[in-house]
Amino acid sequence: MKISRNILLEVSENFQTSITNIDGAIRRNLELLITSLNFDRAAVFLLDEHESVLQPRQIVTKHGEMEGEGESYVRSKKAGNLSVAINNLKEVVCPGAPEYAVYIPLSYNKKRLGVLRVDNFITQKELKASQVDSLRNFSTLFSVGIYNIINHQHQKHQVDKLTTLTQIGTAIATTLKLGEVLELALSSLVKDLGYDRAQVYLLDDTNKIRENLSIDFRGYFKSLEDASNIAYIFDNILYDNKPRMPLRKFSSDLITYVPIYCKGRKTGLLIVDNLFSRQPLTSHDLSFLSILADQLSTVIENSRLFEKVEKLSITDSLTGLFNHRFFYERLSEEISRASRFGSSLSLLMIDIDNFKNFNDTFGHQAGDTVLSTVSKIIQDNIRAIDVASRYGGEEIAIILPGTDTEGAMIIAERIRQSIRNHDFRMNLQSARITISIGLVCYPLDATIKSELVNKADKALYWVKKHGKDGVCAYSKCDELGD
Ligand code: GH3
Ligand code: MG
Ligand code: MG
Repeated sequence: MKISRNILLEVSENFQTSITNIDGAIRRNLELLITSLNFDRAAVFLLDEHESVLQPRQIVTKHGEMEGEGESYVRSKKAGNLSVAINNLKEVVCPGAPEYAVYIPLSYNKKRLGVLRVDNFITQKELKASQVDSLRNFSTLFSVGIYNIINHQHQKHQVDKLTTLTQIGTAIATTLKLGEVLELALSSLVKDLGYDRAQVYLLDDTNKIRENLSIDFRGYFKSLEDASNIAYIFDNILYDNKPRMPLRKFSSDLITYVPIYCKGRKTGLLIVDNLFSRQPLTSHDLSFLSILADQLSTVIENSRLFEKVEKLSITDSLTGLFNHRFFYERLSEEISRASRFGSSLSLLMIDIDNFKNFNDTFGHQAGDTVLSTVSKIIQDNIRAIDVASRYGGEEIAIILPGTDTEGAMIIAERIRQSIRNHDFRMNLQSARITISIGLVCYPLDATIKSELVNKADKALYWVKKHGKDGVCAYSKCDELGD
């Protein structure tokens, strides 16, 4: 049986033009094969990346309908003639009963690709030698065509991986924002490289999970509220710096855990899985993910240092309160927030009474201790959203978001009482400290930053003038008289 040159050309062209659609190309060519050679059925089985499983990719019958052949064959077992063909790279010809089939190995450049199986199983007609001869022309074209497509896919994947690493490298060089880099890395893993899901967990200095981020194949980012099961994985994986795959308890080669180390200290965990598509992860994936984890470790380390420096630059070292500069920044932010939401905010300006005397009596160092204790008492009496800053020498300013004059008055009184009731014992001698507090409220007393601060100072001055150890709200100063 002679096949026309045109048909063979068409087969070759189909493979070349469907470089991104291997199944489409195989299917069209199987159709050409059975119509031109008059077989009942033709099928292509391809080896997976590990070369251990033969998967049916396309099965075509004479009348064009698809036929499902759900099962994949483990190459070494139970696959009968399919295994013989692929293992020995030899044709298996069974022209008559019971198989009416030919198995031709597909391979190229010493690489095993799969098996082309052709049969007359439906009509049970014996295969003719001329049919089988012509079939070889097809199988050669199938081998070359499939090899090219797989090779192309592999190369494209390599290029995609390099592109991802480059993009992340650029992001690291241009931003210090850890969140942005992590989002980019995770979304590249899923959107560009086709993994089903990518997650990253970061540890704090005490090895507790401080952050986690996850993206799945639908592209949704989320943060897992309960990461306790991951704590177990941390303890069980991160004891050396080799990524482990697969992990005993955690499924198979469908999931990879890559520890992230910063200067030898365990810092995080990158988890990538294909649990949905069930596409096995290979050693290539693992080496790529390890490089990525190294890149991430750099950005994590940098951002930690940056956070530390940033924290130092906004904190007052003696009191642990925020510093003057930070106070003004936050005041602006809180004013715009209050204006956006139509809410109030209050500002307390605190000054320690007769502090000079205290220093003169007990010494400057004792004064420092008092300042730090006063700050601690203040912190204990305010909410987490309130911002206490060392405004100047022994002056402390507190921003109370969402708080009106009445609310702020209660807090101010509570702070004043706590301090006057505290025994700042010095050399076994009881020592008492009092404070004066001026209070202003946005927008009641003022809407501009500088005016708020001025009026808080005025209210404070009023208290100083009227016996100290008290609180005065600016709006009440007039009523109280000069
Ligand atoms: P008043 O009740 O009017 O506030 O009296 P005062 O003595 O506290 O007067 P004022 O607030 O004008 O003086 C501030 C004093 O606080 C001066 C300085 O000795 C002391 N002081 C300021 N900063 C520090 C500090 O960091 N450590 C110590 N130990 N003392 C400080
Ligand atoms: Mg003062
Ligand atoms: Mg003072």
